[in-house]
Amino acid sequence: MKVLKIDHLGIAVNRIAEGKNFWTDVLGLKLEGTETIEEQKVTTAFLPVGESEVELLESTAPDGPIAKYLEKKGEGIQHIAFRVENLEAALDELKAKGIRLIDEKPRHGAGGAKIAFLHPKDTHGVLVELCER
Ligand code: ZN
Repeated sequence: MKVLKIDHLGIAVNRIAEGKNFWTDVLGLKLEGTETIEEQKVTTAFLPVGESEVELLESTAPDGPIAKYLEKKGEGIQHIAFRVENLEAALDELKAKGIRLIDEKPRHGAGGAKIAFLHPKDTHGVLVELCER
């Protein structure tokens, strides 16, 4: 499998409207619009930084994965996303290496990407997303 770059850092915030201010007003990044992914119960906002992006994540429902994350850990880095050349092939390879997958098959992510998450128990505690655009 070929990992091309760090695609984005996923950061959980209580509300994008307030959570974005540090990134936009202090660091001067530009927010490129928001998108709600209903099946993941999340609204995302992307802020490009050079070759990568910051992805702010706000929950749309109290039982969504981001709501649960915020409840347990509070605001902060929730996942790291690596861009790969071929997501399905990467998942097959990881499975063969004994890495547990949260998503056995790619699913729809923000910005038209195909994404899949790996199980943090097999990544030393880091929630890793792989994505293909
Ligand atoms: Zn992400």
